[in-house]
Amino acid sequence: MRNVLVTGASRGIGAQCARLFAQNEDNVYINYYRSQKNAEGLLDELLGSGFSAHIIKADVSDPIQVKEMFAQIETECVGIDVLVNNAGIAQTKLFTDISDKDWDKMIAVNLSSAFYCCRAALPYMIRRKSGRIINISSVWGQIGGSCEVHYSAAKAGIIGLTKALAQEEGLSGITVNCVAPGVIRTDMTSHLSEDDFNALKEEIATAVIGTPDDIAKAVLFLASPSSSFITGQVLPVNGGQC
Ligand code: NAD
Repeated sequence: MRNVLVTGASRGIGAQCARLFAQNEDNVYINYYRSQKNAEGLLDELLGSGFSAHIIKADVSDPIQVKEMFAQIETECVGIDVLVNNAGIAQTKLFTDISDKDWDKMIAVNLSSAFYCCRAALPYMIRRKSGRIINISSVWGQIGGSCEVHYSAAKAGIIGLTKALAQEEGLSGITVNCVAPGVIRTDMTSHLSEDDFNALKEEIATAVIGTPDDIAKAVLFLASPSSSFITGQVLPVNGGQC
């Protein structure tokens, strides 16, 4: 049974990743920061279905809390076999209105968190000469999103981190890949009106808005034996948005 950590897994894409890993008979760690009730609800759902799951609190933008989270996990199991860096925040602002604080928070939650978690997870993976890291980027990290420059920069940074780390860890038997979701219906996009979604559909080949399940299936694939020869790649899951 593999030990899987999904960051920001109390809801949305992260929660669906946790569900699919649990159904796959992995032992799942559901990281949350503020949404304890949601995390407990998901835990009850998974344990109630006979799956193996735990919840673990940490603000993944804080290197000390990440260190403590991994120390706690390693007292319960030997280490993490599959790391999914999913936690993220978004913000829509004109570039000229982005404050230093906005910028620093965006980079800390969306990019530095992946650095902290990869750094904490890797020693065990390197010792075992196996491991899977899947980072959640975004279509905006690939093509750039207007009024989301800081978000786009952080998500593009995730792609750079993924490609470089994949090169460094290839001989250690560890794959590092990204999933780049397009527009997905979650709390992150709940501020959008149906008119906004319809306008976005015009930029999507399939004219469909994605679901957390679309992304979670891609994440599960990149953690599966079927993808063992894939590393350093960005898998766009976006209905053909370009
Ligand atoms: P969401 O807002 O529902 O989920 C984000 C999760 O991250 C939440 O559970 C939140 O509590 C958690 N989180 C935020 N800050 C945290 C912190 N400091 N420490 C720990 N957890 C923290 O949104 P979602 O759509 O499920 O987003 C999941 C990922 O997918 C994010 O990285 C997001 O950028 C990315 N993404 C989403 C979309 C979309 O359209 N929804 C598109 C592209 C990429």
